[in-house]
Amino acid sequence: MARGECLCGAVRYRVDGPLRDVLICHCRECRRWHGHFSACTAARREDLVLLEQRGLRWIDSPHSDAGARRGFCSECGSSLFWDPPGRERISIAAGTLDEPTGLSTAAHWYVSQAGDYYALPADGLPRHDRSGEYERAS
Ligand SMILES: [Zn+2]
Ligand SMILES: [Zn+2]
Repeated sequence: MARGECLCGAVRYRVDGPLRDVLICHCRECRRWHGHFSACTAARREDLVLLEQRGLRWIDSPHSDAGARRGFCSECGSSLFWDPPGRERISIAAGTLDEPTGLSTAAHWYVSQAGDYYALPADGLPRHDRSGEYERAS
């Protein structure tokens, strides 16, 4: 069972089911939101249990294809969740998990929107111009 929290502890959660491997998303929206590209795992919505949510706030993700909303801690500013209604899983920022996570990184998404201030790593992982097949296939 995985657990995680924001920087200050005003948002804490537990995941009672399996976690997806980590996807790195280079889209502009993720980069603005996270301050750089995002690295997120995902869990079935019903498996995510909020243990502390006094800091949790949601905003609509303005340009999301999926009409998603983003969850963050209003006390410390940590970005935690990406919640697309109509999909069965909610994305969770991998850096908020307690370690060891047991996860590895599976792919890069939205490399067509990667920032001009860094190079994509030569890590041999699949790169998708937009979102990959991975989400649909698993
Ligand atoms: Zn916090
Ligand atoms: Zn993104």
